[in-house]
Amino acid sequence: MTAKVAIVGRPNVGKSTLFNRLVGKRLAIVDDTPGVTRDRREGAAMLGDLEFTAVDTAGLEDSDVESMTGRMRLQTEAAVFEADAVLFVIDGRAGITPLDSHFANWLRKQKTPVILVANKCEGGAGKSGVGEAYALGLGDPLPVSAEHGEGMYDLAVALIEHIGGRTGGALGDDGDELDLVEVDIDLDPENETPLIDDPAKPIQLAIVGRPNAGKSTLVNALIGSDRLLTGPEPGLTRDAIAIQWEYDGRKVKLVDTAGMRRKSRVEQKLEKLSVADSLRTIRLAQVVVLVLDGALGFDKQDLTIADHVLNEGRALVIAINKWDAVDDRALALKDIEDRLERSLPQARGVPVVTLSALTGRHLDRLLPAVMQQYKRWNTRISTSQLNRWLSEMTQRNAPPLAGGRSVNIRYATQVKARPPTVALFAPRAEYIPESYLRYLINGLREHFDLQGVPVRMHLRKGK
Ligand code: GDP
Ligand code: GDP
Repeated sequence: MTAKVAIVGRPNVGKSTLFNRLVGKRLAIVDDTPGVTRDRREGAAMLGDLEFTAVDTAGLEDSDVESMTGRMRLQTEAAVFEADAVLFVIDGRAGITPLDSHFANWLRKQKTPVILVANKCEGGAGKSGVGEAYALGLGDPLPVSAEHGEGMYDLAVALIEHIGGRTGGALGDDGDELDLVEVDIDLDPENETPLIDDPAKPIQLAIVGRPNAGKSTLVNALIGSDRLLTGPEPGLTRDAIAIQWEYDGRKVKLVDTAGMRRKSRVEQKLEKLSVADSLRTIRLAQVVVLVLDGALGFDKQDLTIADHVLNEGRALVIAINKWDAVDDRALALKDIEDRLERSLPQARGVPVVTLSALTGRHLDRLLPAVMQQYKRWNTRISTSQLNRWLSEMTQRNAPPLAGGRSVNIRYATQVKARPPTVALFAPRAEYIPESYLRYLINGLREHFDLQGVPVRMHLRKGK
């Protein structure tokens, strides 16, 4: 039985949006049978490699505190009792309302663990609401954007604490973490990473790209069958399709192949959806192959997708398809590489594989690149190695002085893999500029063979 996670909160904070993000929009609509299940929608949710049942309680709440008390007893209460964990959603932009406090007071008395989720915090918005939310007494608020998919990785990590079978590892921290790079929940640095590679589990691979780039042709060529093209009609089962096979002794699962089977009439009309589809798919994947049409090169949509893959902390491989149809290959490749370098410097080192799905030429280069990036993405660096490297880096180029005083970084440790995430402890962390972090991130990539994978660095005050 999968764990149940209930999404609760006052109206309009974004519960349904979060539910849809976790479960997949279309599936949720399909499951939303009027009548019996009207009040509570449940759906199979996936977040990274975490699978659970999400329960949406949107529509159960009432907007005033008085009647809320009564109705909550009947409906939301039941959802919370049955759940293994609760996502208590607040609106990070609106701040805390009396109804939020009311909800929080009740939740605090329940046995079910609660994760406080501050929604609508895209692009660092909602800082004030997040600050206020500490007062709810439910631990650290986790800033996310359900609409934009930000903070989902951290949400997965927080959930794993409660439903992933892991013990220990408090969510709370001492509150002095700086979010100069990004906001992150604090994991005990001595803990094992919560997301370690399990070779029995398939590598979750997604193949995304614009319509007609050749994604279906590529998948069919890879798995050597026409299964996709003869698959069920899109619509009802659109989200459920996944294909598993083995490469080099390792299970590989193609996740969410939406857009890869024969397009229905409706889908043809909705070509625009493809980017949104891709963005949703990326969430399900560990490694993402972005397929381009070699004759067309990179366009804005492709860059958006690539950028999103890296922002979501996934490993990226770029496949330039239809290479057989490209005349001046040297020029085409240079164009693509220049565009990538100019528009997406964070993608430096991402493998670019030219191939032809149609003829099969160089198809055999794709999976090795995928495996290599997957391995890099899983990298764990020992603390001693990391600190030796850090001292070399700071000796070569120390952080700039602040107020005439030097700024020391005392200690570095890897707090997570997938993607590699390093915490830096510095007493005057707030004076370390982003440019210096970039210097460190680039150095780390080079030194530990992490080219082309997203690397995260968090500054923490103290020690
Ligand atoms: P519910 O009543 O709690 O289920 O809330 P909904 O999911 O229906 O969302 C309420 C409103 O908030 C809708 O207009 C959403 O588009 C919006 N919303 C949801 N998530 C976000 C987000 O992450 N950022 C922003 N800016 N708006 C959001
Ligand atoms: P999708 O929309 O991304 O799934 O693209 P399809 O796989 O349906 O391919 C779109 C068109 O490009 C089809 O006509 C394919 O035959 C063609 N195509 C796919 N791969 C190649 C290739 O490597 N070379 C050439 N010349 N055409 C290709």
